[in-house]
Amino acid sequence: MGFKLSLSSRGRLADVHPDLTRVVERAIEITDVDFRVAEGLRSLERQKLNVKNGVSKTLHSKHLRQPDGYAHAVDLYPLDADGKLVLDWGSPWPGRPWAGVNWAMKTAARELDIAIVWVGDWPKFRDGPHYELA
Ligand SMILES: [Zn+2]
Repeated sequence: MGFKLSLSSRGRLADVHPDLTRVVERAIEITDVDFRVAEGLRSLERQKLNVKNGVSKTLHSKHLRQPDGYAHAVDLYPLDADGKLVLDWGSPWPGRPWAGVNWAMKTAARELDIAIVWVGDWPKFRDGPHYELA
């Protein structure tokens, strides 16, 4: 559909594993919903704060730098027509436009033969924006 990653989205992919970056770059080419990379690599300090605030459950997040030097997770948010982040996950789960981003990510991963996990598929503690390498 001709969407492009913004400069800030590209910047947030800088420390993300190349395989996951390829999936995101392919997804933006095929998606019919524009999206933004809200987060890639996360500092341990930030993760500790997230756990304390109940935003995250684990200190073993794939957003942290992994032994290979990369983050293995990204958070993606759909954008509305005005370019604003859509925060409401929609209903029934996942509602539009979240389902559009999800379709693009899963299709891109299948095309590239890269295994990813969407935490939105988990029955508990759904995390709609979060994709990570399997
Ligand atoms: Zn995440």
